[in-house]
Parts: sequence; structure tokens; C-alpha cells
Amino acid sequence: MDMEIAICDGPQQIRLERRPVEALGPADVLVRIAYCGVCPWDVRAYNGLSSSVRYPLQLGHEVAGEVAGLGADVRGCAVGDRVAVDVIRRCGVCRACRRGFENMCAQADSSRGGFAEYIVMPAKNVYRLRDGTKLIEASLAEPLACVVRGQRRVSVATGDTALVMGCGPLGLLHIQALRASGARVIGADLLDRRLEVARHVGADVTVNPDQQNLSQIVAAETDGAGVDVAIVAVSQLEAARQALPQLGGGGRLLLFAGIYPRAELVLDPNLIHYRELLVTGTSDYAPAEFAAALRLIQDGIVQTAPLISQVYPLTEVMQALASVSARKGLKTVVRCSDLEPFEPEVIS
Ligand SMILES: [Zn+2]
Ligand SMILES: [Zn+2]
Repeated sequence: MDMEIAICDGPQQIRLERRPVEALGPADVLVRIAYCGVCPWDVRAYNGLSSSVRYPLQLGHEVAGEVAGLGADVRGCAVGDRVAVDVIRRCGVCRACRRGFENMCAQADSSRGGFAEYIVMPAKNVYRLRDGTKLIEASLAEPLACVVRGQRRVSVATGDTALVMGCGPLGLLHIQALRASGARVIGADLLDRRLEVARHVGADVTVNPDQQNLSQIVAAETDGAGVDVAIVAVSQLEAARQALPQLGGGGRLLLFAGIYPRAELVLDPNLIHYRELLVTGTSDYAPAEFAAALRLIQDGIVQTAPLISQVYPLTEVMQALASVSARKGLKTVVRCSDLEPFEPEVIS
């Protein structure tokens, strides 16, 4: 059997190619892909800004679809099941995997891309969905898994006040997960239309730091105490610089986004010392967080559909990448087959 798959041959070069579907191993599942989300990382790799990638390259790692074939040893999964797919193969035996840091697996293999009609993955990477869950909503389990990991690392607690710097798709997922944990949320972004969506998905207060004084608003919202948690969900150094002094005593800073171009952040050690601040970061997710993210989506605790502003067919994958590159709208998703149609809802 053949399939269409997007291959990136070099910076700004992507094309569809027909190639045979990979042979199924005994523990593998063949998934017909319905949707694959476009991640900022895809755009960086496509634009040649990631030093770690080697071309030719398959892009796309936010995958949901339907089971189309099973290896001989697969149990608990049937042809026709609707599924979300974790596309990173981890070894399970390296030091990182054995310590619960599967996101840092030394043998991680993410070579198979989701901008394709089919993908073959081990059954343990394939998660069955409930009947009512829409495939396009489940395709956002991967970014939400990253969000879950980040929030676990900064121990979000009921009654906390949290500041989210950046209200793009990831910031909007952070806002919803924070609310679900019982935190009050201040969302900050330089684009007013993103702040509007932030309020729509649950931000209690929003700030445009270009037009308003962030420190004054944080002080007013926290009786002068500062926030308990600050999450930098935008790849700009300035956001990290602005976030740190907003933390009150015992505050935790999460550097959630990679900062490009590379830069250095100057920290005031006395601020960290006297306020007992924690500064940390997270990257990617472990399988436990992928499962937690799917529960949040399927229980309706986190809504992913309102974040999706553009859907492109697989034949227009280049336009999909360009739209994210231009920061057009919010979340862009590629429709890889016609399994389940979806019309973006426009928030106003
Ligand atoms: Zn991603
Ligand atoms: Zn490993």
C-alpha cells in the first residue's frame, strides 16, 4: 500500500511524495491520520532555524486518526478504533527513561512525521479515544501534554495566582489547565486579539504589556504580594525578563518555551534568595503526561476546538507552515484525510 507524505528536503522546501507504508512489526499499529497539528517547532525546522535537524525530514507530531491495521501481537486495540498517537518512540531502558524522564530519552526516535496519510507506531504509543471525542480535538493532546508536565513541575496549587506570558495556542492551554487546578490566571500578550481569546477560555485578567504596566496590574491583582507561578509560553527573552520580578515569596518561574535566537537572562540572585524563588523549565512530555492530557480533553476540562483557527488539507502543508510562521490566527491543523470534517469556530 502507498501513501502521501510531506518530506522537507531543506530550509523552506517541502513536497508531497508517494511512498510505501512501512511494514508492520508484531507490536505495531497502522494509523490512518485524520489531523496533525502544526507546532512552532515544525516551523523552526522548516525554516532551517533548528541546528539539531538533518534533512530530508518528516514533520508533524500532533496526530490523531483511526486504526487501519494491527501487528500480530497487539491486544486491546481494533481496526476502526479512533486514537491519538504519541509519535516519539522511546527506548524505556536508558537512564532518563528509567528515572521517569522519558522526555529526555537518549534513544528517542521522532523520525516519523504526521503530515502523511498513515503512520506506523508501537501499540504503546497509540491511545484509544472515547466515542464522543473529536479527532481534531485529540490531535492537540501532544502540546497539552507539554503543558501538563510544565505545571506539575511548578506545583500549581488551588488558590494560587498565576501569570501566563504569551497567549498563543500553548499559553491558552496553560490558562485552561491552571484554571482547572483552581488557580486565578493573569494572561499577558502583545496582541489584543489573543487576549480576547484568553478571556474566552478562562483568564481572569488580561494585560497587554506594551500598553499597560504589568507590575502595577500584578500588584493590584495580588494585594501587592506578587504571583505564585509565572509561565513563559512565548519564545522571547523579554517575556522571561518581565516575568521573574512578578513572583512573590515562594514563587515558581517556568521557562516553558525555547528562546530564539539564543540569549542570556540576567537574574538578580538576591531576588531569588530573599523571595525563595524557584526557576525551572520543561521540554516535551513523558507518556504519563500524554495520558493526563487526553483525559483533560476528553473530560471537557480543557477545550482545544476554540484554539483552532485554520485547517489546511495535506496538499497545502506549505501554506499551513507559512500561516504559523506569520503568526496568523491561533492553532493551525493539517487535515490528512477526510475521516472527520471540522469547521473552525470564530471567537468574537
Ligand atoms: Zn508540538
Ligand atoms: Zn530511553
